[in-house]
Amino acid sequence: MRLTPIQRKGRILVKARFGCLSNIHTLNVTRGCEFECVYCYARGYPGAPREEVYLYSNLPEKLAQELNNPRRRMPIRQVAFNTASDSFQRHPEILAVSYQAMTLLLERGIPISFLTKGWIPDRFIELFSTYPSLVRAGIGLVSISDKYQQVFEPGAATSWERLNNIERLEAAGVDVHVRIDPIVPFYTDSEEGIEALFLELAKRGVKRVILSYLHFRPAIIEQLSMELPDTTLKLLESCFETQPWRQVGTSTRSKLVPVFLRNKGYNRFGSIGERYGITCLVCACKNPDIPAQICTTGLPSFQETPKVAGQLSMFPC
Ligand code: SF4
Repeated sequence: MRLTPIQRKGRILVKARFGCLSNIHTLNVTRGCEFECVYCYARGYPGAPREEVYLYSNLPEKLAQELNNPRRRMPIRQVAFNTASDSFQRHPEILAVSYQAMTLLLERGIPISFLTKGWIPDRFIELFSTYPSLVRAGIGLVSISDKYQQVFEPGAATSWERLNNIERLEAAGVDVHVRIDPIVPFYTDSEEGIEALFLELAKRGVKRVILSYLHFRPAIIEQLSMELPDTTLKLLESCFETQPWRQVGTSTRSKLVPVFLRNKGYNRFGSIGERYGITCLVCACKNPDIPAQICTTGLPSFQETPKVAGQLSMFPC
């Protein structure tokens, strides 16, 4: 995938207005993402590049200016990375910008959080080990099946690399949770698949996971129809065909997996989780029509937990 450096214009730190990220500053080091997950809704945003990633190469410089500006009025309580991209894409120039941005924030005592499907290089783990109470790490991992990954997350880190992230983050004293999102109906919600995943998570001491099923949006359907094998696409479409378009968070046209299928799946995760000592929370942002939880529940907090119900997380999966 081609990397194109561009200059970021305007403010670097912008406040999110959605879901569990409400009022938290967010930061993306690139526009576009080399991992190219087939279900990624950020790929369908207007202006999202195709077969190319734009790197905000002036981001560290602009971030330093914003942080050092004596006239800055808004306190920065936390910065959430990766709401529309991933800081841990493999390209060395992307990693260099991510490292500089995270260092600038942590050195000033500003907490950071991220969700990643990449592999986190050791130098980041060393950085985090210096400020473990300021880092909240989320690892996106839906399945340990290689076949699943080749089809749905072709460019992301392998499941073993992501499990290795968990080990090294925990050893560095960082709070780490796992996000199982998007659960793909019929592909990643079988008894065997969940057992295999939870066995590996439990071996690494994971106690808590956050769950959410795949959403359909028009741009996602277009991507899926170009990138999934026909049989896989047809099976997925059959799940959503009776479902109405509805507003979910900021998206006015989303389809959810039918409630009975989601509840059945979440209960399956919950009962297998109990056997492994893993608590399963259902993401309230992406499941506005059923009882669910705010995904920051139970985490050591950097700030007050936002009051939220039925709003969509910005994370692009
Ligand atoms: S879901 Fe995340 S990791 Fe995957 S392509 Fe989108 S931004 Fe990148």
